[in-house]
Amino acid sequence: MSGYEGVKFTTTMLGDEVPQDVRLAQLKQWCTFYHTHHLAPPYSGGSYGNLSFREAPDAESFIITGTCMGLKENLRNDQFVQVSYCDMEQRIVFARGCRKPSSESMLHFAIYQQRPDVEAIFHGHGEVIMNHAEQLGLPITGTAEPYGTVELAKSLLAILADHHILIMRDHGFIVLGNSLADAGVRTMALLEKAKHVS
Ligand SMILES: [Zn+2]
Repeated sequence: MSGYEGVKFTTTMLGDEVPQDVRLAQLKQWCTFYHTHHLAPPYSGGSYGNLSFREAPDAESFIITGTCMGLKENLRNDQFVQVSYCDMEQRIVFARGCRKPSSESMLHFAIYQQRPDVEAIFHGHGEVIMNHAEQLGLPITGTAEPYGTVELAKSLLAILADHHILIMRDHGFIVLGNSLADAGVRTMALLEKAKHVS
């Protein structure tokens, strides 16, 4: 169907507490890295990149950048949101914070559920990586799905396996890590590799 944008999710706010986790300092540094290296330009008018970390081992909750928020320097804690749980069937995201969570929250939730080893998820749209995705031999989703949809999450889960870097067709890339530093260092290596493929 032409122009189909997919059914996105609704957000239920459980509280307005601003996240205070000490790891926010690290997360902000990687947001700055994504911004500085042009890895998080806007996609499809509404989504920038989004970065998150799991709150505790085995927890399904995580802390993620707020919605419609460009990654930049000097982000404040109130620009991040805790996602407590997602109901993938009803397409509801339950969150705490003073703004809504990233439009890709369901995608992050689905990955954390399927991959207990993953503690951090970084998602960007940078051209330098997207233009070389095939030469880099990275796994790519079979179909292009609108951002923020369950369909997009499912297309990614279908190729997730134990990969740490994946490409969402015609959209962006995902880097997974067993810590924030791990996801960050993987991003740095990916960026260097992409710059040097011809
Ligand atoms: Zn995106």
